[in-house]
Amino acid sequence: MEKRLRLAPSPTGLLHIGTARTALFNWLYAKNNDGKFLIRIEDTDIVRSKSEYTANILDGLKWLGLFWDEDPIKQSERISIHKNQIKRLLEIGAAYRCFTSESEILELREKQQKGGLPPKHDNRHRNLTSKQIKEFISQGRSSVIRFKIDDETEIKWKDQIRGEIKWQGKDLGGDLVLSRRAFGDQIGDPLYNLAVVVDDNFMNITHVIRGEDHISNTAKQILIYRALDFKLPIFSHTPLILNSLGKKLSKRDSVTSIDEFKDMGYLPEALANYMAFLGWSTKTPVNEILSLSEISKIFDISDINKSGAKFSWEKLNWINSQYIKSMELTKLSGLIKKYWINKGWKSPSREWELKLTDLIRDSMILLKDSIDQSKPFFTLSEIQSEGEDFLENNKDAKESLRYILNYIKEENISRINSSNAKEIINKICVKNSIKKFVIMKSLRIAFFGCLSGPDLIQSWELFSENNSDITLIERCLT
Ligand code: GLU
Repeated sequence: MEKRLRLAPSPTGLLHIGTARTALFNWLYAKNNDGKFLIRIEDTDIVRSKSEYTANILDGLKWLGLFWDEDPIKQSERISIHKNQIKRLLEIGAAYRCFTSESEILELREKQQKGGLPPKHDNRHRNLTSKQIKEFISQGRSSVIRFKIDDETEIKWKDQIRGEIKWQGKDLGGDLVLSRRAFGDQIGDPLYNLAVVVDDNFMNITHVIRGEDHISNTAKQILIYRALDFKLPIFSHTPLILNSLGKKLSKRDSVTSIDEFKDMGYLPEALANYMAFLGWSTKTPVNEILSLSEISKIFDISDINKSGAKFSWEKLNWINSQYIKSMELTKLSGLIKKYWINKGWKSPSREWELKLTDLIRDSMILLKDSIDQSKPFFTLSEIQSEGEDFLENNKDAKESLRYILNYIKEENISRINSSNAKEIINKICVKNSIKKFVIMKSLRIAFFGCLSGPDLIQSWELFSENNSDITLIERCLT
């Protein structure tokens, strides 16, 4: 039978790393099994759901390479179907109308709180007669539909990650509310647990992979599955992502939305690669730089850890830098060029762009690092105090720069490339008995204003092609 998995995001915020990782595990499982990965937008919370969040979630998934196999389903378009199933539950006696008012519920909670008890509905309207129901309705009371959960019920399932999970009916908070409040004999809008079961059944979902914060929901949902006589999917509950303090990664942990990772200059391939290993590892050690399709071939859900997965910026950065190092040069250059365009920096040629990209890629961790790394090639870098000191205190420093300028003029050199650059330095070194490192450092200060930077010879070639090397050297002599 075809394996069908789904991501069921609520569009109440931007795509979050936790949801993206759940999507990834579902996608990997589907691909590993030649199955389908589907999307259901759970947009029934009309106050908090926004279409821009739906767009953001779908865009983020596409950016990560997590494409889905069928058109996304919108839960809000299926409300009448959910209500029909609630009617079925009423008809078979698995659910009933409950008129407990908000203030009565509050009163019950306070009482339980005082007694040190967890909140639990007392199922007071489970056995109302039709006369009592009519009376409540005529008093203008609103009602919800509750699903019966007997205290003695035991719910057991085999979780693909956590093994056998057992739950007792008495620990599920009393009879479960399936719908929002409505008046008369109306059924209010369906709530999460009912809608999920009905939709997963409708979409023929065979495997549900979601965060461990849904375990108690799964227990409730299994009871609804049983009552509606639907086939149960196989469940897997993934560990949460933790911050460096071992707490659940939340919006308070500065960066959590996929957009923010994108803006910071993480590559989608790197982020997806990192997320796969966030809580999952293979039994046989593998190179951890793998594409999603490579991972999908070795992905085994039972290898997901039971305990929380600590988010590591260090590891993510390392993976990102590896992708930058090995990315196809024209692709990387295209990505970096966007930053240059934003800054209004113009390059002399396409070839020059590729050379500069290649020169700086090894020192980049994030795409946006390309701004700092390439800045000296577009704008004048001020000479810093370490540069000033070197030029002033080393007797051959400025001399060597003068020799370079003269040599270029005398030899009529119009373009510097890596072979004539080396030749110039060697000749000046030998002819004037100046130490090579002095010439190199002086040039470096002229170009970068300091003693660090990328490969000097290749840099010189780029400054020359940009017609700025002579000016940069001259400024040190005034
Ligand atoms: N809308 C739920 C959420 O975003 C879906 C949970 C599920 O996968 O059933 O948490």
